[in-house]
Amino acid sequence: MSHDLMTKCEQRCLFKINDEKIWKWVEVEVSALTSGEQTNIRCVHCHGRVRVHKQNVQHGPKDHVEHRVKRDSENCKGGHYFKGEHKMSQEPVN
Ligand SMILES: [Zn+2]
Repeated sequence: MSHDLMTKCEQRCLFKINDEKIWKWVEVEVSALTSGEQTNIRCVHCHGRVRVHKQNVQHGPKDHVEHRVKRDSENCKGGHYFKGEHKMSQEPVN
């Protein structure tokens, strides 16, 4: 197995506060996302770009996100390739 197994990510959601539209990052369960939903999400830990993977076999990996960039996986405590020193992504999604 060579992938990240993060079951949560952050999703940018639109809020309306005092008639003002404000985008905020909210932590969500990956299982609540649809597999086509690849935009407006990022890693909870390093804010790097992530990709949604849905569980497709009964005993396979659960719904999760993986880093799109291997360097993020190496530098993120949620990453499979984590080398031990957590850093924020060099190309964060803001
Ligand atoms: Zn990360």
